[in-house]
Amino acid sequence: MTERIGFIGLGIMGKPMAGHLLRAGYPLTVLDIVQTAQDELVAAGARAGTSPQEVAAQSDVVITMLPDSPEVEQVILGKQGVLEGLRAGALVIDMSTILPSTARKVAAAARARGADALDAPVSGGEVGAKNATLTIMVGGAPAAFERAKPILEKMGKNITLVGEAGAGQITKAANQIIVGVTIAAVSEALLLAAKAGVDPAKVREALMGGFASSRILELHGNRMIQRAFAPGFKIRLHRKDMNIVLNTARELGLSLPMSAHVAELMNGLIAHGGAELDHSALVTMFEKLANFEMGAASQ
Ligand code: NAD
Repeated sequence: MTERIGFIGLGIMGKPMAGHLLRAGYPLTVLDIVQTAQDELVAAGARAGTSPQEVAAQSDVVITMLPDSPEVEQVILGKQGVLEGLRAGALVIDMSTILPSTARKVAAAARARGADALDAPVSGGEVGAKNATLTIMVGGAPAAFERAKPILEKMGKNITLVGEAGAGQITKAANQIIVGVTIAAVSEALLLAAKAGVDPAKVREALMGGFASSRILELHGNRMIQRAFAPGFKIRLHRKDMNIVLNTARELGLSLPMSAHVAELMNGLIAHGGAELDHSALVTMFEKLANFEMGAASQ
């Protein structure tokens, strides 16, 4: 039997992801607080939902792709939320990047209603969402994962069940540490080169074949040199994710000094008006500290 899917949160990521499910032939109900976000999908054959509760009542599988933990709590656990309409045997898949502790809370609440839940955050950005090439990191029960797999395969490529509820969000937090700290390292490296009067573009090129080579040096390093700071992945969202990292570390009594540094630099950049810039713009925070801009040497 084809699963009936409800999809809540049709932003930069959610809209193209829901579009893939519709084109794959799944009966789809969509919902966003911004009515116009639904229009395109409804014109393509999706049904417009009226509340998270009503979407859940119409669906076998409910997917959420919302900004942050409070929105997920409100939409799933709140008044007229998904849980109020969810039938026993249904499956909730939250694909937003949120606190692992909230993911575990959602999973426990779904189980209490005889339903199942997976946390399945993604990496790959808008391009990955549009091309259905997202990396998907999943936490939850193996049976629920097997059930979700054909659906997730319509949206992503590298799909891994990492562990129990919350493990997907822990994996995403680990991803955001590596990306954030590497952006900071690439910023410092290219700034050092520029200050020393050595062309940062040449330095990047020279390093790309060696041990310091990475996707961040390749893509974000290039953005820094080109001053191409239109997003991409916004600083404001990466700061949200670093807060998830640090809150989770605090719950665990764990010290993560590098993550804390990066989060503070992001706070500084946001205070300087950089919230909506791509996260590669973190380099401009280092430039402020140095009172020196990377391009200045060649001007
Ligand atoms: P977005 O802000 O573009 O989309 C979120 C959508 O949720 C919006 O359309 C908003 O109107 C809707 N929404 C908010 N509250 C709602 C509610 N109560 N009921 C119904 N709809 C509601 O964000 P996005 O870029 O699509 O990101 C979604 C999630 O995916 C975030 O957690 C983000 O961190 C994560 N993520 C984003 C990217 C990226 O490159 N943009 C990459 C990986 C992961």
